[in-house]
Amino acid sequence: MSRSWPNILITGTPGTGKTTHAAQLLEALQAAPSTSAAPWQHVNVGDLVKEKGCHSGWNDEWQSWDVDEDKLLDELEIVQHPGAKLLDWHTCDMFPERWIDLVVVLRCDHSQLWTRLEKRAYGLSKIQENNTAEIMEVVLNDARESYAEEIVVELRSESPEQMEENVNRILQWVEAWRADHANDDDDDDDDDGEQS
Ligand code: ADP
Repeated sequence: MSRSWPNILITGTPGTGKTTHAAQLLEALQAAPSTSAAPWQHVNVGDLVKEKGCHSGWNDEWQSWDVDEDKLLDELEIVQHPGAKLLDWHTCDMFPERWIDLVVVLRCDHSQLWTRLEKRAYGLSKIQENNTAEIMEVVLNDARESYAEEIVVELRSESPEQMEENVNRILQWVEAWRADHANDDDDDDDDDGEQS
């Protein structure tokens, strides 16, 4: 199975900058002549869970939806062809490995993260829980356990300059991926409808 364009998972503790990065990356990919032909789409998985009802209800203790993974994965079947999806979610270990070509794990200094989450009006326990998760590198460890080492990239997200650098770096990675898979479009023509 091959995709015409890569799928990128942008993950990290809430507040590290996933949605902001995905929005800027989308703009950059749509603007660059080398990548603008693809139907790039930013998929905010948390929003999708709510919009499509991929959950079994609100969990008061965790202050979040109890995700129905089967239903969510059905909704996300769209990622498989032709690719070009920017998946934005704080959980990274639920997707089939074959769906994802690059995993970007955003990291942030914990005191800066605390301030960002306070601005979001999170309750104290939710701020503490997320802050501890960032210090313990929970998402990074999950990513390393779930995907091949060479596709997991850890990037700092503590300033607009870093964000710009990250976006440029991912754009260059997409261009390299595309160059590496230049012949796959021909293969796709042969096996249409047999994506797995
Ligand atoms: P997430 O999607 O991971 O929950 P957001 O993208 O919503 O995080 O970012 C949370 C807040 O932090 C936003 O106000 C955003 O502008 C800010 N932020 C994120 N990344 C950076 C960065 N690299 N530099 C400065 N501010 C950032």
